[in-house]
Amino acid sequence: MLADTMANKSNATPFAMRRAARCDALQLSPIVQIAEQAKRLRAAGQDIISFSSGEPDFPTPPHVIAATTAAIASGAIGNPPTQGTLELREAICADATARCGFAATPAEVIVSAGVKQVLCNALQATLDPGDEVVVPAPYWSSYADIVGFAGARLVRVVCDAARGFALRPADLDAAITSHTRWLLLNSPGNPSGKVYSRFELEQLAEVLRRHPQVLILSDEIYQHISYQPFCSFRVAAPDLARRTLIANGVSKAYAMMGWRLGWGIGPTPLIEAMTAVQGQSTSAASAVSQLAARAALLGPQDLINDRRDSYLARRDLVLAECAGIDGLECAPPGGAFYLFLDCRKLLGRRTQSGETIESDDALCRYLLARGKVAVVPGSAFGMPGYLRLSYACSERELREGCGRMAQALADLR
Ligand code: PLP
Repeated sequence: MLADTMANKSNATPFAMRRAARCDALQLSPIVQIAEQAKRLRAAGQDIISFSSGEPDFPTPPHVIAATTAAIASGAIGNPPTQGTLELREAICADATARCGFAATPAEVIVSAGVKQVLCNALQATLDPGDEVVVPAPYWSSYADIVGFAGARLVRVVCDAARGFALRPADLDAAITSHTRWLLLNSPGNPSGKVYSRFELEQLAEVLRRHPQVLILSDEIYQHISYQPFCSFRVAAPDLARRTLIANGVSKAYAMMGWRLGWGIGPTPLIEAMTAVQGQSTSAASAVSQLAARAALLGPQDLINDRRDSYLARRDLVLAECAGIDGLECAPPGGAFYLFLDCRKLLGRRTQSGETIESDDALCRYLLARGKVAVVPGSAFGMPGYLRLSYACSERELREGCGRMAQALADLR
């Protein structure tokens, strides 16, 4: 009887979910939303070509699978230390010396469930309300949410396509205030493909030396997908190592996104603070994925160059296809696997049903509905008026998808 009364009472007052203020604007990344929508439409039988996802289409390297399966079969899967196994952190240090050009010790390394978690750990560990984070735009969309979730304010610095999407030292200087705690750099960049030369990084470092309160987070996850010489920020500015965090991982170079494994290399006090955050959220990254990442770093590396060459061939193919599409413009990107296409000339045109395409968002919706092609609007990257096309897919899909885009856009008036 009492139980009945209580049940009726709770039915009468429906529970209104209230989010915490810091998580109010947080949502699934627009990239993930579009990629998932494309998958749903495909599952429902529609012939969709998705240029939306940043996931390499290569399989996990066979030697990684072999090493990991053998370890699983042995049953030796313990709970790793929160900061990451010593064996993997040593392999990361060897990789930094051999392939990035700087030295680090295992105490300066944290292993996390992907670079995304490295960023979350770093910003959660260091930001307070009122703090500012300088982010050159266009930027990977998650930067904005991760900064907001940490309670800080994102200071967007627009980097023009006409200048190759490069952050200019004077613009960086103007954006920094006494509240600035971090600069987020990303080279090669998503979505712009911008690769900073050593000289450009040295010039930015020159500015940062004048602002000792600013930490530098250099996201170098696309290091191995660079068609121009790559330079780590740590190499360009070794004297700033005590306030630099390098983020990298196996997601892109080894096509191991699903293994969720990335790392941060930075000063020990920062790594300790990040480890404390991780220890109260997810604990260590999966033991199995740590074994897999070690096998990737210590195994044969020729596949990295082979895959980079094949991304380059795809880039040139898709650039040539897009060059023939009226209203789209793009300079050849220096790295990563995206075209960031200027679509501003198409805004204001009308669809067959008379609807005006007012924004990059509307253009993406139109391309999905009419052309059955999924791309991501530039506004998701802090730069409206653009479209991001991922060419991490087959040559057949690239040709077919570009053909469909050309047709759908030619149908606009
Ligand atoms: N950083 C950038 C610039 C990215 O584009 C991505 C994924 O698209 C990530 C980080 C996420 O990497 P991870 O899969 O290691 O979390």
